[in-house]
Amino acid sequence: MTEFAPVPDFALGPDIPESGYVVQDLGGGAHFVTQGMINTMFVETKNGVVLVDASPFLGDKLLEAIESVTPKPVTHLIYSHAHADHIGAAHLLKRDGLKIISHEITGEFIKEVKNDDRRPLPTETFSGRRKEMDIDGVRFVLDYTGDWHQAGNLFIHLPELKLMGAMDSFTPKSAPFFRLYFSAHVPAYFDAMDQLLEYDYETIVTGHMALPGTPEDVATNREYIRDLRAAASEALRTVDMKEASAAAKVPADNKQAEIKVWMDAVTARAAELMPSWEKRLGGTDIFLSDNLNATAWSAFID
Ligand SMILES: [Zn+2]
Repeated sequence: MTEFAPVPDFALGPDIPESGYVVQDLGGGAHFVTQGMINTMFVETKNGVVLVDASPFLGDKLLEAIESVTPKPVTHLIYSHAHADHIGAAHLLKRDGLKIISHEITGEFIKEVKNDDRRPLPTETFSGRRKEMDIDGVRFVLDYTGDWHQAGNLFIHLPELKLMGAMDSFTPKSAPFFRLYFSAHVPAYFDAMDQLLEYDYETIVTGHMALPGTPEDVATNREYIRDLRAAASEALRTVDMKEASAAAKVPADNKQAEIKVWMDAVTARAAELMPSWEKRLGGTDIFLSDNLNATAWSAFID
């Protein structure tokens, strides 16, 4: 088995009890819920519950978690984005009168996915950059600032509650998932960290693992990915494609292999150039090559 560094204490969340979930009160009716791998948030209003996403990792436990806080029904479901690991249990919540809200691009994506009734279509969508809503006395600002994870992905800001939801943006206290949260557009991912630091909030819920974060965690993630980019850029500047091919004995007519071998060498060199982050983030060993590879490709072509 591959050896991984132990997860540092600061990156571990709470122990998950027999119930299979932990609910944390964030104040003002807002709650964080996690089962260890995935997390989300919900807000109790005067008439019901506004829930962000419905992950199959939580499944039925999500309703149990909400019922542990309030007997009120889920009146609104906001899709942060269309990925099935976050909204693939939405069908469990579907009932008459449930409002499902998303960006229009997310709605179109779900419509195009055939044979998946786990992700019901949104009942309300918006186009463009921003939608502000007052839901039973709680203000929600939904912002589509760029394709930092998936087209249609939202920042979900509750200004009065000083709360931000940005699912699949980063992991508090840990290095980002592979390929910078599998970002199709790495520059937009870097922009998203800048954008997230422009809002006013105290807590940010980011969709994975067992911890909510703070603006300081966003800044730490930004510093980390800037280090990735600096290391990747320096490796791109210093690793020569011809030399890498010669060292790997790539046949001269195999240009595709030449690119692959070169980028692997760039990634390996960048890993050597990365400063040590083990005392600040967990999991820095796990997706380092994937993240450097994504960052190097972006630095090369974007
Ligand atoms: Zn996702």
